[in-house]
This record gives sequence, C-alpha cells and structure tokens, in this order.
Amino acid sequence: MVVLEAADAVGGRVRSEVVDGITVDRGFQLLNPAYPEAARVLDLDALHLRSFVPGVLLAGRDGRHLVADPRRRPSALLTSALHAPGSRLAQARFAAYAVSLAVGNGHRLLGRADTEVGAAYARFGALTDRVLAPFLAGVLFDDSMASSRRFVDLLLRTFVLGTPGVPARGMQAMPDQLASGLDVRLVTPVRAVTSRTAVTDETTWHARAVVVATDPGGASTLLPGLDVADMRSGTTWWHLADVPGAALTGGSPVLVVDPDRRGPLVNSVVVSNAAPSYSVHGRALVASTALGTDVDERAVIDHLTLLHGIDVTNWDVVAVHRIAATVPSTPVGSSFRKPVQHEGIYVAGDHRDTASIQGALASGRRIGDAVLAALA
Ligand SMILES: Cc1cc2nc3c(=O)[nH]c(=O)nc-3n(C[C@H](O)[C@H](O)[C@H](O)COP(=O)(O)OP(=O)(O)OC[C@H]3O[C@@H](n4cnc5c(N)ncnc54)[C@H](O)[C@@H]3O)c2cc1C
Repeated sequence: MVVLEAADAVGGRVRSEVVDGITVDRGFQLLNPAYPEAARVLDLDALHLRSFVPGVLLAGRDGRHLVADPRRRPSALLTSALHAPGSRLAQARFAAYAVSLAVGNGHRLLGRADTEVGAAYARFGALTDRVLAPFLAGVLFDDSMASSRRFVDLLLRTFVLGTPGVPARGMQAMPDQLASGLDVRLVTPVRAVTSRTAVTDETTWHARAVVVATDPGGASTLLPGLDVADMRSGTTWWHLADVPGAALTGGSPVLVVDPDRRGPLVNSVVVSNAAPSYSVHGRALVASTALGTDVDERAVIDHLTLLHGIDVTNWDVVAVHRIAATVPSTPVGSSFRKPVQHEGIYVAGDHRDTASIQGALASGRRIGDAVLAALA
C-alpha cells in the first residue's frame, strides 16, 4: 500500500508546528481517549495525553465560576451547584440526560428522531443558553445551535465517557504514530483518480483499489458529484503570556467560555497548564479560538482581557491559524455512515462518518474492511 500525500507532512487538519521552541497545534483541538476508534487504533499510552478539566470556567458579567462534571472533579461540586445557570430542576434533568447518553452502545443514539440541537436542548433552559451553547460553538465551529441533535448527543457522550487532552508533544504526535511504518510519499498531490489509478504530476500509479482519503474539498475535486457537507471555519490565536500558567485560570487547564458572549472568542485555554511541554521558560501558552477567518483583532484582545481578567496587551503572538475548513457542518438529518464507494472508488474521511477525529478513524476502518473484503 502506498499513501500519496499532498502536504509536506502527514496529519491533514491535525498538525503541529514549533515556533521558537514553542509547540502550537494548527487550530486548538483535542483528542478524546473515549473515542472508540482511538482506543482501538492508537497507542494512547505512547501519546502521553495531557488532560483538560472536564468542564468549563464561565467568565461572565457575574464573575468567574467553574462548572464541571462533579463525578470526575469532586472539588467542583459546590461551585457547580451554586453557579451552574438555570433552575435546579433543569440542571438535574441535564445531568440525568448526560449520564443516559453514556449508557450502552453509541449507535443507539443514531436511531433517535433528529432535530436541531437548540430545540432538543431547550428544556435545559439557561444551562443550554449560557453553558452548552457557548461550549458547543467552539466544538462545532458554529453558534447557531441548528446542528443535528443526534451528532451532538454522540459528542456529549464522548465528553461524559472520557476526558480530552493533547499529546505532550503536540497533536501531530497522533498522525505521526498512525503513519509510522507506512509507505507515505509526501508532497505528492493526486490530480485525478479512477478505480484502478491515481495520477500525480510525475506518474500514474496502478492499484487494485484506490481510496480517496482527503478533506471534503479534496474529495469533491477528485470525485465530481460526491455529496460533501459545507465546512465550518475558525481562527486560533496562540499567545505567550507575560505571566506563568499559575496566574491564569488558577493554574488549571480549563476551557474558559463567555456565557454573555461579549466578544468574538468562543473559548480560550491555557494549554500549557495541561501540557507544560508546549511552552518555554514556564510562561503560559494560551490558545483562543473564534468562529470564521475574518475576525477583528482589537476585539479579540478586548475579549481575551475579559475572559482572563488580566491585562493582555504585553502578551506575544506566537502564531495565528486562520482555517477556512475546520469541520464539516452537521445539519439535521446528516448521515453518519455514508457509502464507502463513489463510482467504484473508495472514499474515506470525517465527511463520510462523524465530523471528528473519531469519524475520520472510523471511516478509515470501514473503508479498510471494505477493500480487504473486495480484494479477498
Ligand atoms: C481547528 C480545528 C479544530 C478541531 N477540533 C477537533 C477536536 O477537538 N476534536 C475532534 O475530534 N476533531 C476536531 N477537528 C476535526 C478533525 O481534525 C478532523 O475531523 C480530522 O482531522 C479529519 O481527518 P481526515 O483524515 O478525514 O481529513 P484531513 O485531516 O483533512 O486529511 C486529509 C489529507 O488529505 C490530503 N489531501 C487532500 N487532497 C489531496 C490530494 N489531491 N492528493 C493527495 N493528498 C491530498 C491533505 O493534505 C490531508 O493530509 C478539528 C479540526 C480543526 C481544523
């Protein structure tokens, strides 16, 4: 098997770079070890995952309050109970709902009637408006709450079952691990495919099976007529603060979100509080993400100041990643098991399964099984 890769390294949307000794991922993202496929195909121990807090720090007009899963963060029980928005009844309803998502096999969630997540979660009241919606905006790269409730249920299930983190060496460690031992030809863009050939600038490769495992844009270029979802976009700023991590978010690796949405950032997090190896000289490395790629920089700085409650004007920008295609949109009725073939050519990627690392890995397995069965 040969992998023809257009870029100069493996990873696709999961890439890291080192800037002056500082590790930054191309767009803040996390790996959840509870993804079923991750547990199957990755050597999670070798990634040395550095976990984040299973909850969020709400930084709103009424102060800063940790709302976390009390089962995994017992110390947050009191503050969560006191400060989680909404009535106790709605909070209890949501807690019961979240726990129910984690029961049994995730496939059963796909059998439910689909609807917009905003409508499905309206019964959780202010908890949805002030916690779930701002949190999900950063996960889905969309703040409309119009995504498929089935998909969000699956996502929440993984957050209940696992605590996401980053590999100590950066997210790039994950694709590097997957690619080790494979025959990968870098800087080799494929220009055209048939069910038995792949055409590059230098040559035509012949194979018994051809798999197009690209992002949705690449797939629709190579396979005209393939149905692919629209992509969401986002921008991540990486700042090196002029203070140590202990001075921000209480030294905790927790996602900060603004329930009052007073600016463009959907979240900000001191990544070095989870993974000190990302940073240098003990300085806090902060990743902050906004939706879209055309974001007012001044507004970002103002919002960052509100989120961290500290003067950020002397923070150094390490990198800014404007990413036009982050994750596929998942409108109501999305299929999370799309056909494995298009006109005799196999198609893999997160746009064929769920819009996530889990979806990309699961899709790879489905296609691998289909190819092996066909060749046998
Ligand atoms: C900023 C950001 C944050 C995210 N956050 C999360 C998160 O927290 N959790 C999560 O689970 N998911 C997250 N995701 C989504 C996740 O990264 C993707 O779902 C996943 O990486 C998709 O993998 P893939 O293999 O399907 O596609 P890709 O990663 O896009 O890989 C496709 C590969 O195909 C190559 N290619 C394209 N065209 C050609 C061609 N013609 N010839 C040869 N090679 C080609 C590309 O160079 C690329 O290497 C995030 C994504 C981004 C960008």
